[in-house]
Amino acid sequence: AVRIVGACKSYGSLKVLKDVDLAVHPGEVVCVIGPSGAGKSTLLRCVNRLERLDAGLVLIDGDPIGLVARGNHLRELPEARVAAQRARVGMVFQRFNLFPHMTVRDNITQAPVLVNKETKTAAIAEARRLLAQVGLAEKELAYPNELSGGQQQRVAIARALAMRPKIMLFDEPTSALDPELVGEVLAVMKGLSDTGMTMIVVTHEIGFAREVADTVVFMADGQIIEAGPPEAVLDEPRHERTRDFLARVL
Ligand code: ATP
Ligand code: MG
Repeated sequence: AVRIVGACKSYGSLKVLKDVDLAVHPGEVVCVIGPSGAGKSTLLRCVNRLERLDAGLVLIDGDPIGLVARGNHLRELPEARVAAQRARVGMVFQRFNLFPHMTVRDNITQAPVLVNKETKTAAIAEARRLLAQVGLAEKELAYPNELSGGQQQRVAIARALAMRPKIMLFDEPTSALDPELVGEVLAVMKGLSDTGMTMIVVTHEIGFAREVADTVVFMADGQIIEAGPPEAVLDEPRHERTRDFLARVL
């Protein structure tokens, strides 16, 4: 479970997150939609502490990320311990982030071996299981440039899953893909949600949000304008801004 409480973040004088609260329950899929510049990517980056909040907290299974309680105060955790927390939060970005000089298998097994200290044998077995899960069992020894964008993105999902994350974050994972490759990546994400994975997905794919999300969050100007079940937010939005946005994207 993830709880974001009173999240505030500015870049200089630009307020990018203005007191954002969001709870994601175990096994829940939250889709975040909203216009460019709304703060969606910043919110995700704060969940795994790639960015620090100016104020507020992110709790993952009750533990404040990047912070530790000392008496009545919260203190910064040393970076090594933040890295250990971050390792339990999987993230998939818009652009493929595979290492080009490594095979698919090595891309997937690298962090489990180096960071989680898994044996190579165990990591390879898990990589094979994950490649089967994302429909790429036969690509174990391929290099990223031998794969389509959709296949690369599915490997990126497998690589994130290899770290056994408690939650998966997706930042527009299909928006750099050719249209005909979007479906295969969304299908893998839907399959992942069916396994009970907790997910926060920033997406422009309203159809996916409608079908897979438990909660749709509409963000604009660093705030959550409205949040609720897909039928409510997408079909009967209460706010003018949500209606305007949906009218433009649907
Ligand atoms: P998009 O749909 O275009 O991806 P977004 O909702 O993800 O937009 P963010 O990337 O979170 O928006 O950016 C929110 C605002 O913060 C934007 O105005 C952006 O220019 C600004 N911003 C983001 N990162 C930085 C940074 N590192 N330094 C300065 N400004 C930043
Ligand atoms: Mg973004």
